[in-house]
Amino acid sequence: ANAPVNVTVTGAAGNIGYALLFRIASGALLGPDQRINLRLLEIPQAVKAAEGTAMELFDSAFPALGTVDIFDDPVQAFEGANIAFLVGSMPRKAGMERADLLSANGGIFGPQGEALNAGAADDVKVLVVGNPANTNALIAASHAPDIPASRFTAMTRLDHNRALAQLAARAGCHVSEIDKVTVWGNHSTTQYPDLTHATVNGAPIPEILADRTWVEEDFIPTVAKRGAAIIAARGASSAASAASAAIDHVRDWCQGTTSSWTSSSIMSDGSYGVAEGIISSFPCTAVDGEWKIVEGLEIDDFSRAKIDASAAELLDERAAVAEMGLI
Ligand code: NDP
Repeated sequence: ANAPVNVTVTGAAGNIGYALLFRIASGALLGPDQRINLRLLEIPQAVKAAEGTAMELFDSAFPALGTVDIFDDPVQAFEGANIAFLVGSMPRKAGMERADLLSANGGIFGPQGEALNAGAADDVKVLVVGNPANTNALIAASHAPDIPASRFTAMTRLDHNRALAQLAARAGCHVSEIDKVTVWGNHSTTQYPDLTHATVNGAPIPEILADRTWVEEDFIPTVAKRGAAIIAARGASSAASAASAAIDHVRDWCQGTTSSWTSSSIMSDGSYGVAEGIISSFPCTAVDGEWKIVEGLEIDDFSRAKIDASAAELLDERAAVAEMGLI
């Protein structure tokens, strides 16, 4: 049998954590035969709730689950981590200034980056889910000089999955029949879900793309604002779908993508005119444990403007955290 894999989850007592931990422990991440040791990080006030979740994990008698340890210290929580899901963050509250939001998250993701740098395994892979996820990932990466920046990623897979679901409903097909959809940019309302290259059963979709009213006034805003629609319906944020997308992201990263590409927020190398040094969403494949940007896609004028606008927002966020000394 393979050695156990250490998976650290922050914000473990939260809503996404509650859905995510059971998927990881059930084998959905690395298969039913890979033993996983969970390391849960919480703030001190939430440690007791995390202990309750750990009791339920214990009671599930998952064949793939090894140990479960709970910490309120990031240095201990990230010790030996092969995979880290950074879920806990300081979300924007009504009336909160952007500077307050970014500085609160700097106080979380800076020390977590340092702790990863100090103690994580050499092969560590990091997925940031907690918002503002792309900039939080940048903060963590900048505090981990010994870890390649390519190991710090942010989640746009839920946006990608939402785009697949919306297109499948419009095209009257199953999501599994759709390929070549991309979410570009920031995990925010400036994100650009791009259908230009999309196929249904291998065929392009010119009639759907020609319906600009649907693409621009229905599809794009529906995907970008889906989080708010879920809150309006459920009275709580999306949690299980966010956890499911986090599993999809890390599973594909470890085991390889199976479609032509997916969407992943990774450190930009300047591809497609997106400034280097921001963590932005691209069309990506995962091969041998590394994300690779799919190069050479044609970008039309509409897409160009959308990609540029979202990249500009990421550059603004980077400038703001740089000014605050957070990176
Ligand atoms: P959730 O588990 O619902 O959400 C956690 C984070 O994920 C939020 O920042 C949320 O941002 C973000 N997120 C990203 N994508 C999505 C999505 N599609 N749908 C919903 N959320 C998304 O939050 P809870 O408040 O239930 O739990 C957070 C936990 O984190 C708490 O237990 C808290 O104690 C803990 N925490 C732990 C820290 C640590 O380990 N050091 C630090 C800070 C908090 P948004 O709200 O903007 O959608």
